[in-house]
Amino acid sequence: MSPNATHPSPARGTRLAHIGLAVADLEAILPFYRDVLGMPELPLDDADGARIVGLAAGEPLVELLEAESPESPIARFVARRGPGIHHVCFAVDDLDDTLDRCREAGIRLIDETPRLGAEGKRIAFLHPSSTAGVLVELTEH
Ligand code: ZN
Repeated sequence: MSPNATHPSPARGTRLAHIGLAVADLEAILPFYRDVLGMPELPLDDADGARIVGLAAGEPLVELLEAESPESPIARFVARRGPGIHHVCFAVDDLDDTLDRCREAGIRLIDETPRLGAEGKRIAFLHPSSTAGVLVELTEH
């Protein structure tokens, strides 16, 4: 099969992709993860009104999310709950199929259709009210 074919890559199973941490001051906390814990820094695009730095923790990443504006979701999260774990992202083999199965299971979707996330991959969020209080992001491998 051509590498450019749109056929999905071989099934890998659902895996942890990243954990998103809402931070109030990215420059202040970055040296802890990057230098003290020794996690390599990876450039990521800004998304959803947040400046994002990725740190490799094996294959999964830790993403530090700092609000760029007071109206952004990260700013509202930090104002309400303080800095902390914001969301958990899982990579799935087939995002569209997984969203269909979530719908069938009655899971509340934040994104009805996938959109582009910080890593340039398609993503969709599930509402924490359906996922035991955890904001879940789904992406593709
Ligand atoms: Zn994320």
